[in-house]
Amino acid sequence: MKDLAEIAFQISICQDCDLYHSRFKSVPGEGPENSKIIFIGEAPGFHENQQGRPFVGQAGKFLEELLSRAGLDREQVFITNIVKCRPPGNRDPQPNELEECSKYLDRQIELINPNIIVTLGRFSMAKFFGPVKISQIHGRIRKIDGRYYVAMYHPAAALHQPALKNTLLDDFTKLRDYIKQIYSSNLQNTLKDEKQHSEMKKQDDEEKPTQLTLF
Ligand code: URA
Repeated sequence: MKDLAEIAFQISICQDCDLYHSRFKSVPGEGPENSKIIFIGEAPGFHENQQGRPFVGQAGKFLEELLSRAGLDREQVFITNIVKCRPPGNRDPQPNELEECSKYLDRQIELINPNIIVTLGRFSMAKFFGPVKISQIHGRIRKIDGRYYVAMYHPAAALHQPALKNTLLDDFTKLRDYIKQIYSSNLQNTLKDEKQHSEMKKQDDEEKPTQLTLF
């Protein structure tokens, strides 16, 4: 898969898990190939499955508001999901679906090579942060092997639990500050780079979420 268009094509014909049965349109993600930031949600919902685009429903509207808090608009960033086809009835993605679909996200990340990965919700968080609680790490930045990671609550969570709306708005305001600092290089000096992904995995396996605090 040599570019984003080829990945999108492969996703559109993928039958590696059962989700292709409920697929009207696959949702590979969208945004420039040279995006500095990738946002990774969970899975397409009804509207995304109809349109083949990520975050176009109600959660998408709120995501756009959040992006503007961070000083971004959606055309500037790559937005995708951990699972590229809609789970029936918006159920949670199953372990085999996450596993089969991961090759597409991995290749997207490899090609885009972003400076910052922002996870939206617990499924994409688990891929990068391991078995941690979102309530403990949301909105905090960590650096691993030269790349920055921030876990956010899923925008749809705020539609069901209004108290989370302000948390998300605050966390995206912090994201704006992180971005400013990263690009003025200050954050490079204030954050210690964690040595190895393997080291991080070991820590996560040992369930030491306190290791996440880098400040
Ligand atoms: N929720 C997601 O996680 N992704 C979408 O694309 C839409 C809603």
